[in-house]
Amino acid sequence: MKIYLCYYVNFMLFGKKKYSFSCEDIGMKCGYQVKGASSEDELLQIIKIHAEKAHGLKQINQDLIENIKKNIKKK
Ligand SMILES: [Zn+2]
Repeated sequence: MKIYLCYYVNFMLFGKKKYSFSCEDIGMKCGYQVKGASSEDELLQIIKIHAEKAHGLKQINQDLIENIKKNIKKK
C-alpha cells in the first residue's frame, strides 16, 4: 500500500518525467544504460538486477545507492 501510494504521488507530481541512468556515470565501464523509467524506485530496481547479473553484486550497499541516486537524470 505504501509503495502503491509512492508510485501514485510520483505519477501525480512527476508523471511526465523520465528517469535515466548510465553505469558509466559511477565509473562502471560496461556501457549499460537505463532510459525511460517512470520513477526513481523503478529505476533502482532495474539497476539492482543489472548490478547482480553484470557486476556480480548480490547486494547494493547504501553508499552505492546514494551514488546512483546522485547520477540519475530526470527529464
Ligand atoms: Zn553496469
